[in-house]
Amino acid sequence: MSRSAHPAGPRHADVLPEGHYSAPPADLNALDRKVWAQTVARGADGVVTVGGIDVIRLAEEFGTPAYILDEADFRARARAWRTAFGSDADVFYAGKAFLSRAVVRWLNEEGLNLDVCSGGELATALSAGMPAERIAFHGNNKSAQEIERAVSAGVGRIVLDSFPEIVRVAHIAQSLGKRQRVQIRVTVGVEAHTHEFIATAHEDQKFGIPLADGQAAEAVRRALQLDGLELIGIHSHIGSQIFDMSGFEVAAHRVVGLLKDIRDEHGIELPEIDLGGGLGIAYTSDDDPREPHEIAKALTEIVGRECEAARLRTPRISVEPGRAVVGPTAFTLYEVGTVKKLEGLRTYVSVDGGMSDNIRTALYDAEYSVALVSRSSDAAPMLARVVGKHCESGDIVVRDAFLPADLAPGDLIAVPATGAYCRSMASNYNHVLRPPVVAVRDGAARAIVRRETEEDLLLLDVG
Ligand SMILES: *Cc1c(COP(=O)(O)O)cnc(C)c1O
Repeated sequence: MSRSAHPAGPRHADVLPEGHYSAPPADLNALDRKVWAQTVARGADGVVTVGGIDVIRLAEEFGTPAYILDEADFRARARAWRTAFGSDADVFYAGKAFLSRAVVRWLNEEGLNLDVCSGGELATALSAGMPAERIAFHGNNKSAQEIERAVSAGVGRIVLDSFPEIVRVAHIAQSLGKRQRVQIRVTVGVEAHTHEFIATAHEDQKFGIPLADGQAAEAVRRALQLDGLELIGIHSHIGSQIFDMSGFEVAAHRVVGLLKDIRDEHGIELPEIDLGGGLGIAYTSDDDPREPHEIAKALTEIVGRECEAARLRTPRISVEPGRAVVGPTAFTLYEVGTVKKLEGLRTYVSVDGGMSDNIRTALYDAEYSVALVSRSSDAAPMLARVVGKHCESGDIVVRDAFLPADLAPGDLIAVPATGAYCRSMASNYNHVLRPPVVAVRDGAARAIVRRETEEDLLLLDVG
């Protein structure tokens, strides 16, 4: 294993061991269906199109970088989730993945409900006409104003996350003369990431109330005593980018165990169980996500089986996919600014965005794919690192990327599967302007979130 460290530390310019990379793809011009939105295709002229529009035209009209979102794909995925779960379950789209008013309207039209976790997300949802009863309000530290706003608006449920919050929501609801429907979020001691899960994970995290030591049972006792609250169910969310159903199996087993204890102690069967989100998508060709109908079947069977064993009526299930709905629907379109070959070390391809439009690589070591999209190329594959324009050596977009060796300034490259947690986590680092989100459908393109301007920046800076 050879590793040569940069003076700034191994994190900044580590040279990974030989053989770490998968082999270059057989055809650099091919677009793996798994990681690209449904209508993305490479035309006979080599230029990639989405929704029937080529990326060169999109770059001319909207500039780069830009998030290009395939509206037909978004709607199809939303519908697939809705259809998979049918009328006995509810699908709540997790707004934190990406939220805008157009998205709220699409969700509304496709019959999905919506999770929000801040006053800003709630305001966006309400302003775009999402019926309040189809909104769930999450968060481990909702402010009194946020709770008041949510209760007054009439949100369908507030997910209680702590003992102080149980009292807070009850008090606010009562003072508004309302009885708020609530769920209690529990931590079941299951932690799931990608291909593995831990069934005995520490409950050492800021979210939820632990099942351990009877804490969740105590939370239920308190919630049932308060007039301002109507307890409708138990909520559990075990992680993100999950491919393996076994984590959900253990979580469902433990949540149903609590429902049984509640029945035995209080003589009531809570009508709902929420299993959260976290279902994985393909960022690279190595990822193999499951289809919504397989997930629905698995989750419904797991809950049914557990309830039968506990002799409980099967509660209404809800799920909260965010990434699995919006993630695959968008790619980020960048223009190449410089190609820097460091002999014997690495080739750096710098694009006109970076960690301000995609923080996931720096934050989670996330892996992405990338392709040259403004033309095809017969050049040999070149192993490169795609980096941004920020003053930070951790500003990496794609750590290890195979691109054609004739890549040059002015080429457009695209990083697929950036629909979730990219625009929603975007920053203004270096006073870089946040890119627009451009929705493309049937040959028409429009910005659903426009590009930030220098005027926007200066408006916030009040001197
Ligand atoms: C983040 C989150 C989700 C969505 O997670 P995805 O990985 O985007 O599916 C759902 N529910 C809760 C409570 C969350 O915190």
